[in-house]
Amino acid sequence: MAGVEKFRAELDRLDAQLLDLLAGRIKAVHEIGRMKQRSGLPVLDVERERELLTRILAMAGERGLSQHFVAQIFRQLIRYGRSTQEALLTPMQHRSPVVCYQGSRGAYSWLAARKFFAVRGGELRLTGTETYDGAVAALTSGEVDYAVLPLENTVAGFFHEVIDLISRGACAIVGEEIIPIDLCLVAVKGATLASLETVYSHPVVLKQCAPFLSTLDGVRSESWIDSAEAARKVHDDRQQTQAAIASRHAAELFDLAILKENISSNVHDATRFVVVAKESCPVDSLLPAKTSISLTVPNQAGVLSGIFSAFGERGINLGKLESRPALDDPRQMRFYLEIDGNGADDNVTAAIETVRRTAGSLRILGCYVDRAKLETESDDLLERARGSVQPKVQPPGPVQAKERQRQAAAPAKTAPVRPGTKGFKYDVARGGERSTVQVGNAVFGGGSFVVIAGPCAVENHEQLDTAARDVRDAGGLVLRGGVFKPRTSPYSFQGLGWEGLRMLREAGDRYGLPIVTEVMAPEQVRRVAEQADMLQVGARNMQNFDLLREVGRTDRPVLLKRGMMASIDEFLLAAEYIMAQGNFRVVLCERGIRTFETAVRATLDLSAVPVLRERTHLPVCVDPSHAAGRRNLVAPLARGAHAVGADAIMVEIHPDPENALCDGPQALSGQALAELVEGFG
Ligand code: PEP
Ligand code: MN
Repeated sequence: MAGVEKFRAELDRLDAQLLDLLAGRIKAVHEIGRMKQRSGLPVLDVERERELLTRILAMAGERGLSQHFVAQIFRQLIRYGRSTQEALLTPMQHRSPVVCYQGSRGAYSWLAARKFFAVRGGELRLTGTETYDGAVAALTSGEVDYAVLPLENTVAGFFHEVIDLISRGACAIVGEEIIPIDLCLVAVKGATLASLETVYSHPVVLKQCAPFLSTLDGVRSESWIDSAEAARKVHDDRQQTQAAIASRHAAELFDLAILKENISSNVHDATRFVVVAKESCPVDSLLPAKTSISLTVPNQAGVLSGIFSAFGERGINLGKLESRPALDDPRQMRFYLEIDGNGADDNVTAAIETVRRTAGSLRILGCYVDRAKLETESDDLLERARGSVQPKVQPPGPVQAKERQRQAAAPAKTAPVRPGTKGFKYDVARGGERSTVQVGNAVFGGGSFVVIAGPCAVENHEQLDTAARDVRDAGGLVLRGGVFKPRTSPYSFQGLGWEGLRMLREAGDRYGLPIVTEVMAPEQVRRVAEQADMLQVGARNMQNFDLLREVGRTDRPVLLKRGMMASIDEFLLAAEYIMAQGNFRVVLCERGIRTFETAVRATLDLSAVPVLRERTHLPVCVDPSHAAGRRNLVAPLARGAHAVGADAIMVEIHPDPENALCDGPQALSGQALAELVEGFG
């Protein structure tokens, strides 16, 4: 233990150093912002940041650090820097503001308030109110300096009550904040899904989770003041029959167990909050800004299109248009508008004045920094920077002499020129260097020939256990098995789902093999990634762009299969989708394409292997099983793949092919697999 203590002390020392460095960095960012402001230079220097990020990611690569994680860290750092500069350019009137929010400690509004004011220094005093009304009343009476209120949610839509309160109240929007919503089902320790009777949360939250809640038989939902108060109630009552839907943060705050996470019906759930003050606050022209307006116009033909043209003709984008009832006067229509632009800009002022001429009433509710734009700009920068960074090439694994010869016989590895093809950033083979992707003991692209094998689908314990043992005994390095099966007919066996995944994980562990399995929907990805060592995107999903993006956000290697109607360009652009999200660990898999030929299940495009090796740095795998469709063709095609320079093959096996629930005719026996692998030496 003495050794552990020593390294813990070392970690503590390094963490303290990291924080000192972070503080120094923020101070420098602040000083640069100040100097530029004084000299009138633009604060955002895109070129300079691009150079800086390019250098950082290259340095990360040289140090053997994961570019994926370094990219994530720097994404946050850039956001932090930008917020610091934003705070400098939009100074708040109050040094130690009193801020109220609707709800209680731990609620998302509370998180939004803390995030918004965190970069502004000074002591922050936060106070919760029961209603939105109460928050606005506290602001207008001068009891508090700011109120933080939710304006819209990706699932539940606009908070109309809040828009109406701000439109009517003597206050102005001075900022906005976007908070990702990580809704979890939380309960006291010992509670299970089966023990639950009632789930409490804010009504909007219950609406967001309605599809999940409908899967809980006999469980009632009950509206509560907010998600954090619901968590507090569950904590105070100590009943295993109760659960709350709340943030991970609230679960920690009230010492509750998470029974299920990410239960919102939208994977990219987020809420946008507005920060409201008594007086409006100008936004420096160096920052992207939005202006909110509330107006009433006569209920007549052409009036609305007049508003659109007033902005459109001046090149101003209308980001939001919400209709509100004007029940007191049916001759009027009432709207809430958000325009992309600074309320102090002459062009924006002119457009607003044009609209004002036709409007019954018009009120500018405030001008504030466009949070999404501020953050996306940083992301775009990062993406652009990463586009010019060479992916890290891991040291190759042990290479056998025979392998070296075979690899040497493969075509030239120099970077190709692809006139006329646009959009390829990450796949280009740079200077002939090839990437390696490691999964357990298997190193794809490292010079050795990797064999992935296993059943088409996980069917039952016995079938999987025998197949896994056969894979290990044959010298296969990765175990495959489908649990979510993309079947042509909806009536065919669809896979065992999560239960199958658990069985596959166990079989992999039992035989010391990493596992690869297919994901079919973006919602499955995070959960599958917790269990699987490698994620497969099947041929039918090669252009499921949401799925590609989602696997790109994980840190799991991806086996991307070529679509049966996909050109090589399309195949590579699909790989780009994954890598553009920061995940460079992609292995391409040729599995046969559809041609006029009907003698085989699919035409194995062996020429794709040298072409892919010429055009990308990514490892290339071949699946002879799905191409052949017949067991007697699998071995010759596998040998062909080896001969043309593939880095790996994926082969289907089954202990009892005649009774297989899926793809039996192409499944090899364990013995046939062993003979095939033996042949590769
Ligand atoms: C598979 O490998 O299980 C599969 C379904 O293959 P493909 O997506 O290539 O048809
Ligand atoms: Mn199959």
